[in-house]
Amino acid sequence: MSTSLSGRKVAVFGLAKSGVAALRLLLQHGAKVTALDARSEDALGDVAKELQAKGVTLVTGATPPGLLTRQDLVVVSPGVPLSLPELEAARTAGVPVCGEIELAWRFLEYAGATRLLGITGTNGKSTTTALTGELYAKGGQRTFVGGNLGRPLAEAAVSPGDWDALVVELSSFQLEGIHTLRPLGAAILNLTPDHLDRYADQGEYGAAKARIFMNQDAGRDFAVVNADDAAVMTLAASARVPVYGFSLTGRPVVDAPKLAGLALAQDGGFRLEFAGEDFTLTNRALRGAHNAQNAMAAALLARLGGISRDAVQAGLDSYPGLPHRLESVRVLDGVEWVNDSKATNVDSVLVALRAFAGDVWLIAGGKGKGAPYAPMVEAGQGKVKGVLTMGQDADALARAYANEAPVHACGTLDAAVAKARGLAKAGDTVLLSPACASYDQFKNFEDRGDTFKRLVGAL
Ligand code: ADP
Repeated sequence: MSTSLSGRKVAVFGLAKSGVAALRLLLQHGAKVTALDARSEDALGDVAKELQAKGVTLVTGATPPGLLTRQDLVVVSPGVPLSLPELEAARTAGVPVCGEIELAWRFLEYAGATRLLGITGTNGKSTTTALTGELYAKGGQRTFVGGNLGRPLAEAAVSPGDWDALVVELSSFQLEGIHTLRPLGAAILNLTPDHLDRYADQGEYGAAKARIFMNQDAGRDFAVVNADDAAVMTLAASARVPVYGFSLTGRPVVDAPKLAGLALAQDGGFRLEFAGEDFTLTNRALRGAHNAQNAMAAALLARLGGISRDAVQAGLDSYPGLPHRLESVRVLDGVEWVNDSKATNVDSVLVALRAFAGDVWLIAGGKGKGAPYAPMVEAGQGKVKGVLTMGQDADALARAYANEAPVHACGTLDAAVAKARGLAKAGDTVLLSPACASYDQFKNFEDRGDTFKRLVGAL
């Protein structure tokens, strides 16, 4: 695949945000573009109209046999499995197949915009990406923040000269579709069983994540990994660049590869041991041990990428946080109301509860995912003063908390907020951290969190 795609036939498979951004980039470079999506033209709506107006050939429904094998290149959206038979056939016919991230990278690299910081892992990607973006911006860099979070990377590639740094969240699906992407700094935050619906096993999932290291250049680039996570450290062994670790404990996992340097959590912040630099972590948007990990990863990506110590500290202090992730909504009569609607599973509630010292009123429930609630009951022992339940899985939650904390069956979020207002005393926290999906009562977790913020704002 070359970057001069003018007049070449390119198919884009999947017309969600990334696919559409890829199309715009390809049109800018004069490619003859065919767009494919399994959805009907009606379902695609305005997108279909926009693309047709721009001269794109739109193919909806099943892929016509032979269409992809006639292309010079096929670009695949992250939502589309690379294992589809028609993509396999294209590859067999010698047609290059790549993801939107790879396409964007080709144009960025060609234009010399190669200062890319890539972030992957099971949890914390968006937080670490947004925070790393903040640190680079504080360092005076014109910074693009996007990828799996927010804006597709292809948008950056439309105007590559605009960016000094590209901070990019990369999902394992996106990493499957890269061939030459070469991050200056590549971070793997953690690796826990996830997406096992799409991957045969944990090894395959990890292998997809480890692709983030595969093109790195030992003379220039670096890796950042969670030194407390044995699965991540196993992946780190495949990196050919200096590997920097971050740790909450300072106790290396067994058989870990040797680190070029360590960031270690300490009281009130962390220390970059190899540089002898201390950072404080007092920002409410970064409370909790999990956010200390995210902050250490971001600080390593920034310091090793040339951002000054002072800019890193300033960015840690000014980071505004992402909505719906331990988002402090309001302090009313001494009670803090916290929106953690993104916590759609039990693991997320665990890290949320660990972030508070005690006196928490927990609002939870929704469409359950079948995982046992016992771990979050345990993590909340001595901290959770009461549980306010809502949604489909309310009874299961009530059973889990039966001997541990008072349970108030509220049914809806409105009722739970009203109930919590009556129960919480100055110094307490009311935490919406549902442990469940939202689809039984809301459009999505954003809708649930926004509803919570509106209700709390009206108190
Ligand atoms: P992602 O983009 O990977 O989903 P987010 O930053 O949006 O990550 O965080 C999603 C949820 O994952 C958070 O609400 C929190 O519960 C949990 N989380 C965040 N950072 C970490 C971490 N470093 N380790 C474990 N869990 C985390």
